[in-house]
Amino acid sequence: MTHSAFKPSIGSTLFFALHVAAFSAFLVKPDLSCILLLVGLFLIRKFGITGGYHRYFSHRSFKTSRWFQFVLAFLGGMSAQKGALWWAAHHRHHHQHSDQEDDVHSVKKQGFYWAHVGWILSPDYCDYDAKRVKDLTKFPELVFIDKYHIIPPIITGLACFLIAGLPGVLWGFCLSTVILYHTTFAINSFCHLLGRRRYETGESSKNSFILAVLTLGEGWHNNHHYYPHCARQGFFWWEIDPTYYVLRFLKLIGIVYEIREPSQKVIDGKEATASLG
Ligand SMILES: [Zn+2]
Ligand SMILES: [Zn+2]
Repeated sequence: MTHSAFKPSIGSTLFFALHVAAFSAFLVKPDLSCILLLVGLFLIRKFGITGGYHRYFSHRSFKTSRWFQFVLAFLGGMSAQKGALWWAAHHRHHHQHSDQEDDVHSVKKQGFYWAHVGWILSPDYCDYDAKRVKDLTKFPELVFIDKYHIIPPIITGLACFLIAGLPGVLWGFCLSTVILYHTTFAINSFCHLLGRRRYETGESSKNSFILAVLTLGEGWHNNHHYYPHCARQGFFWWEIDPTYYVLRFLKLIGIVYEIREPSQKVIDGKEATASLG
């Protein structure tokens, strides 16, 4: 598939400006509140992406109430990675067409830069195919927060300012958001490039311990491509998967339920799986 080259837009300008602001954080000495915002907002928002945008909205791998579904959409939205519907529609497309001609971000077909960040900056993918997320567009509050996806990051940035002033914005919002970006993007780039393969999946996904640590368990990408429907991506106790541990805790206190687990047949690689597209 031929893609449109990068074109300057409001979105791409903000994206680059955020990187400049993130680097400028190192010119400002952080106090304890800045460090707590950096780490806390990284962890909370990363769970919004991994537990919310990815395992819930893209794969429906567990169930929850309507109000908590909105909380997940908001937490993921605070990461400034567009809305849950946009994210899920493109991700479902990736699973259905991994490393094929029209994969949205294939390292194999389009190279590292495109898979990591190029596709996000391309005008080709500003929109999404609503037909892919029909199960989600029936909730007006999800459609609203997806359309006005700028609201959660603005609230996050303002909260950082109120808590710790400009240094709080630079460390807690800008730097934390840029780290969130590149650790999320790394799953599309590095996890289709470096690591080990346990399952033959017909595409290039790999398992990476380092990326699993950096992304709350998303680095077990070969496991995930083999069986995308389950909420647990680390199939063995040594495959660290903090997103799954948080989901188990949320189940214990009654917030989520019907968490899909991999069966022994899946773990043994004896069950064929269909893409969730
Ligand atoms: Zn993938
Ligand atoms: Zn996935």
